[in-house]
Parts: sequence; structure tokens; C-alpha cells
Amino acid sequence: MTSSSQQPTHQVLNQAPPLAGHDVAADPALLEGLHREGAGWAGPELHELGVLAGSAATQEQARLANEHPPVLRTHDRYGHRIDEVEFHPAWHQLMTTAVSHGLHATAWADATPGAHVARAAKFYVWTQAEGGHGCPISMTYACVPALRHAPELASRFEPLLAATIYDPGLRIPEGKAALLAGMAMTEKQGGSDVRANTTRAEPGGDGSYRLTGHKWFCSAPMCDLFLVLAQAPEGLTCFLLPRVLPDGTRNAMHLQRLKDKLGNRSNASSEVEYDGALAWRVGEAGRGVSTIIEMVSATRLDCVLGSAAAIRQASVAAAHHAAFRRSFGSNLVSHPLMACVLADLALESEAATSLAMRLAGAADRAARGDAAEIALLRLALPAAKYWVCKRTPAVAAEALECLGGNGYVEESGLPRLYRDAPLNSVWEGSGNVTALDVLRALARSPDCADALVAEMDLAAGADRRLDNGIALLRAELKEAGAAAAADAQYRARRLAASITVLLQAALLARHAPTAVSEAFCASRLEPAAAGGVSGPGAPFGMLPDGLDLAAVLGRSGALVPR
Ligand SMILES: Cc1cc2nc3c(=O)[nH]c(=O)nc-3n(C[C@H](O)[C@H](O)[C@H](O)COP(=O)(O)OP(=O)(O)OC[C@H]3O[C@@H](n4cnc5c(N)ncnc54)[C@H](O)[C@@H]3O)c2cc1C
Repeated sequence: MTSSSQQPTHQVLNQAPPLAGHDVAADPALLEGLHREGAGWAGPELHELGVLAGSAATQEQARLANEHPPVLRTHDRYGHRIDEVEFHPAWHQLMTTAVSHGLHATAWADATPGAHVARAAKFYVWTQAEGGHGCPISMTYACVPALRHAPELASRFEPLLAATIYDPGLRIPEGKAALLAGMAMTEKQGGSDVRANTTRAEPGGDGSYRLTGHKWFCSAPMCDLFLVLAQAPEGLTCFLLPRVLPDGTRNAMHLQRLKDKLGNRSNASSEVEYDGALAWRVGEAGRGVSTIIEMVSATRLDCVLGSAAAIRQASVAAAHHAAFRRSFGSNLVSHPLMACVLADLALESEAATSLAMRLAGAADRAARGDAAEIALLRLALPAAKYWVCKRTPAVAAEALECLGGNGYVEESGLPRLYRDAPLNSVWEGSGNVTALDVLRALARSPDCADALVAEMDLAAGADRRLDNGIALLRAELKEAGAAAAADAQYRARRLAASITVLLQAALLARHAPTAVSEAFCASRLEPAAAGGVSGPGAPFGMLPDGLDLAAVLGRSGALVPR
């Protein structure tokens, strides 16, 4: 008989305990952001969700949902088309928690100021339990502003999209307790350039349309409703397409196959064909892009929140391991170079979380008609979507390495995080497209540059490097407007990165402890600090000398033994 640490040949020593049984919401940057942005009242529910997200039982659900990916059932045993996707029970458990906490469209039905901030914080916390099921949750949240372009459809379906009951299965939408929504824009010939869509929409004469064509990516195809782009006689138009028709028969939306994806494996992403599928118009005919862009904008906020959450999750996993694992006679975290890497990850995390929560606050106030916040969001959101999502794979790789070989092994959870990490940068506008959207915002909404600079100026005088950076950015924003199109496009990633990093620095200067703000500005705004290989995109762990790393690590709350 051997104890768990006593085996016949050796003792198991020096392994970190599992990171489980903790409160994922015990995250200072998140909680302070929640209060600042007007949703402090959501704290108790956030902690309840945080404890659930950190529990061993939830971690097991996440493992099962990913190790038993969804299966497509195209036909029943008699050969009738059914076009259903079968999920492991663990997927349904994760969905039940997400929906019962209103992480989907519930905030749209809540007039309380800060409702969207509370929802954003809950999404940030719960997505750390498992990322894949966040896809239908996000799309259901995001479809509402677009759906409101068809008031009659919105009044029929919005209450069901906001209901906090998870009611899976294909049935008549109005007969269900609650609904989920997806989106289908991308076709085989292109996803960025959706104007090239070839799906046709023929008017049915009774206000409805018949859609014929295909979609190359349609995630969460077991949703009840989809916003779809198709070519109507007037041009590209947005439609609402139900999976089940009002008479109870299945709409002609046929699932061809499921994608075999790098990550996001718990979630189903399908290829679909429409063979005269019934749909209702949403918004003006011929104005499909401007209608559906409202959905895209809300999903972009979730990309930033989801990536900030992944950065936090990875940096906590690294710090936890380093607090327990020993090498060369000390805990890993006691080695100066490891402390430097961990502190750098913690800085990236605090900056990403603070910005994500500021944008959630802007979205909340924008939903209530605040013009300045609408302008800020128009520019800051695509910039942040570009930069924060782009940083996530680098953080995941570095955090994984902090666990050494253990981090490369599936059971640690880090490989799943690493595989999922690039996705937020790919969908809802891939990196280049989102960076180019920054230019579009500057060209079409001249007030957005003023809103951005006004936000940064709130930190004026706090840090010399920040002041210099803002002055340079002002010039760059002007130049971007005046430059020849090709030159402006060539520089678009640089501009999106500058906007984001300076906005992060301004937020940290105003709200974070001095040690954090100082370390962020010294490492991100002074590229010459480490012989020209520092700056915001440098590998982690190359921080300049003289920083208070103990304070940075203490602040993150990640090192407390659990
Ligand atoms: C897991 C997953 C799930 C998805 N789910 C959905 C879904 O539910 N619904 C849906 O509609 N779509 C979905 N998508 C599709 C996704 O939105 C598209 O893949 C994405 O928009 C890019 O389109 P594309 O793949 O056609 O690439 P392309 O448009 O061919 O772009 C390829 C590359 O070229 C770049 N590029 C394009 N134009 C320019 C330019 N003018 N200048 C510089 N660079 C440019 C892009 O940034 C990209 O890096 C999903 C994708 C994935 C990976």
C-alpha cells in the first residue's frame, strides 16, 4: 500500500498543487474596473460565478466538453434530414450556467445603469472556465442591437433572447422558453469582404424572403435564430433566419459538415447551405453591412473581454506554478529572471483588463445614447480588438513555458488556452481588417479622434513618457487622415497598437498603483529601455532595471498560495 505521494520506486515531490477551488473574480483590476464603470452592485454575483469558474467540478466540465467535441447528425435512421449537432452533457452544463447568469442578451432588458458592465465582468470571469461555449453566448448578446432594426421581430424575439433559461433543442421559436442566436456572413470566397457574398434572397411576396446559397463558417448551428447576409434585389441585406419555421417544420438550412478546428473544440462551427430557406428582412434592403455591423461591434467587445480573460488566466496559472515549484534551491518566483517574466505577464494582464472594463463602460453608456462614449468606442474598440487579441497567443505561450514541460501537457489546461488564443484575432475582423477599421473610423467619424485624445488627456501630467506618447499620437492621428490611402493602410497596425498601449497607460496612470503604472510606462513607452528590443511587442521578461516587481506581483493577487 502506498500513499498518493509514496510510490514503490520513488516519492512524488515538488509538484505544484492543482489550481482549483479559488475565486476567479478575486482580480483587483477587474473589481476596481467594475466599481469605476458603475456596476459595483454586481460584486456578489461576480464572486459567486468566480468561485464556480474556479471549482474542480467546472474544470472537469470544461475538459469533457473539449475532449468530446460536438458530432453532426445530418439524417435520422430513416434518411430524413435532421441537421442536428449532438453535444456532450458537459457543454449543456456550461451553457446552463452562462445563460442562468444572464451572460447572453439579458443586459439589453435591464435599464439599470451599468447592466452591460456587469454582464461584461461576468463574461470575463466565466469564460475563464471554458472559452468555446462563449461563442453562442456572445452572439446572442450581440444580435440585439442589429435585430432592433426590425422592431416587429425584436418585439417578438428579444424577450426570449434575454430570458435566463437554457432551453436547447430545435422547436418553434415562439414555443420555447428562451432562444439563442448566431450569425452567418462568411462564404467560401471570402469573409472579410462580405460584399462579395453570393447567397441570393428572393422576395416571397408576403414580406418574407427565400435564401439560396451557402456559408463557409456558421458557428453554433444549434442556435434558434441567425442573422444572415444575402443579396436581395436592392443589394446586400441583413436577414433573420429561424432554424424551425412557424409551422414546426425545419427551415431549409442544411449543415454540410463541421470544421476540424485548431482550438475552440467544444464549440461546433459548420458549413451550411440554404435551399430556399425562409428569412425575414432586418433593416433597410441593400444596407446589410451597416445593419449587421452593430452585431459585429458588440462581438468585438467580447473578443477584447475574452482575450483579456485568457491573458489573466494564463498569467495566474504561471504565477501559481512558480509560487510552489522549486528549482536550484528556491521557489521559481524567487529567481529574479522568473519574477521579471511573471511581473511582465501581470502588467499585460492588468492593462488588458483595465482597458476591457473601460470599453465595457463605454458600451454601457453608448447603449444609453452617450455621444462622447459612442465616439470613443468607435475608435478605441477596433484598436483594442487588434492589439489585445494579438497579445494573447504570446502571453499563452510564455505562461505555458513558466510551467516547463508540465505546461506542454494537456492536463495542465495550458495547451487548450494556447490553441484557443489566436481565435479572437481571426474572427469578427482579422488583425489587418480590424486595424484598417481604425482608419475607417478616423475618416468617417471625425469626432472619434477628439474623444480618444480627451480620454487620454485625463491622465495628463501623470507621466512624462505618456505625455510624449500622446503628443506623438495626436500627430499620427492627423497624418493618418491626410496620408495617401496606401501609406495609411501600411501603418494601420502601428497606429492601432499605439492607440491601445497609450490608452492602457493612461488608464493605469489614473487608476493602478504607482508600481504598476511606472513599470508599464517604463517597459511599453520607452522602446530604447533594453537596447532597442523592449517596447510593447517585445518578448516577456525584458523589463528595464529599477522597477518594484514585488509590488507588481503582489498587486496581481496571483501569487497567493491557494
Ligand atoms: C472558429 C471560427 C468560427 C467562425 N464562426 C463564424 C460564424 O459563426 N459566422 C461567420 O460569419 N463567420 C465565422 N467565422 C469566419 C471568420 O469571421 C472569418 O474567417 C474572418 O472574418 C476572415 O475571413 P476569411 O477567412 O474569409 O479570410 P479573408 O477575408 O480571405 O482574409 C485573409 C487574411 O487577409 C487579410 N485581409 C483581408 N483583406 C485585407 C486587406 N484589404 N488588407 C490587408 N489584409 C487583408 C485578413 O485580415 C486575413 O488575415 C469563423 C471563423 C473561425 C476561425
